[in-house]
Amino acid sequence: MSWHVLGAGSLGCLWAARLTRAGIAVQLILRDSSRLASYRRAGGLTLVEQGQARRYPVPGQTADDPQPIRRLLLACKAYDAETAIAGIAARLAPGAELVLLQNGLGSQAAVAALVPQARCIFASSTEGAFRDGARVVFAGQGHTWLGDPLDDRPPRWLVDLERSGIPHQWSPDILGRLWRKLALNCAINPLSVLYDCRNGGLSDHPEEVAALCTELAQLLRTCGQTAAALDLHAEVQRVIQATAANYSSMHQDVAQGRRTEIAYLLGHACATAQQHRLALPHLEALHARLLEYLRAHGLPSH
Ligand code: NAP
Repeated sequence: MSWHVLGAGSLGCLWAARLTRAGIAVQLILRDSSRLASYRRAGGLTLVEQGQARRYPVPGQTADDPQPIRRLLLACKAYDAETAIAGIAARLAPGAELVLLQNGLGSQAAVAALVPQARCIFASSTEGAFRDGARVVFAGQGHTWLGDPLDDRPPRWLVDLERSGIPHQWSPDILGRLWRKLALNCAINPLSVLYDCRNGGLSDHPEEVAALCTELAQLLRTCGQTAAALDLHAEVQRVIQATAANYSSMHQDVAQGRRTEIAYLLGHACATAQQHRLALPHLEALHARLLEYLRAHGLPSH
């Protein structure tokens, strides 16, 4: 059975290349016919691993191709997910399964609501890849956790990931994992943008970090995510130390003038707190400062 991978970006190409070289059929869905034409002219996608570039002639198509979709990896940014799924919804075969790779929270539920006939599997990945012109560079080994909040039975196609050497694990608590990652992101990334510093620079702002962690843990507990709230501050401090020399992904996005996924990270945290009528003054102030900063730098605030 063929996989469809929607989004020929960093993670989409990384997955498509590994599935393809394991002999698994993949179709890459590109944004439009002009992108498809240039993709075909290039002879497929190019993945760079450990300095070695290799081309994979993965077949490409656009959303309006008639082929039914049974298994889809959604590999676009969170803010593109709903539009992308709306564009292929009519092609989903009965019993179709979707893997949603988006960071943060909010886009997964929005996608699932658009396609109630499909099984939506949420993913959280620590793999790292980036686009370098037309090529994709596999920059950091990592792991991908997959899970379905509505059904904890693992899908049979996990064997495809095994065969492809994609490090993964089926997680019965994928929402807890996504909430924990979101909380870590909210405690580190926005401040790294506002102070224009590497993660290690946040060691100069311990009280601010601590106050955010207290509120984030309160939010997690209010959402029923008690395990995800445990020792949050200690882990944030560990991450700040361990990644002291790195710029956060949000800092990199802003520095390169790219749209951020703020609405699905800090924005989602603040919106969820409001739904629960939970006052989190430090988190709300941070959100307001970040939105203002993005506006001042001409970047979308959603
Ligand atoms: P990316 O490099 O920007 O790739 C996204 C791709 O999706 C782009 O090629 C984009 O096309 C395409 N796309 C968007 N809408 C589309 C549509 N309607 N039809 C067809 N293609 C469409 O993003 P990424 O870095 O792979 O990230 C994907 C998600 O994974 C994000 O939520 C990110 O936070 C998460 N993530 C990424 C990494 C990483 O290391 N990259 C690690 C962990 C998690 P255009 O180029 O035309 O916009």
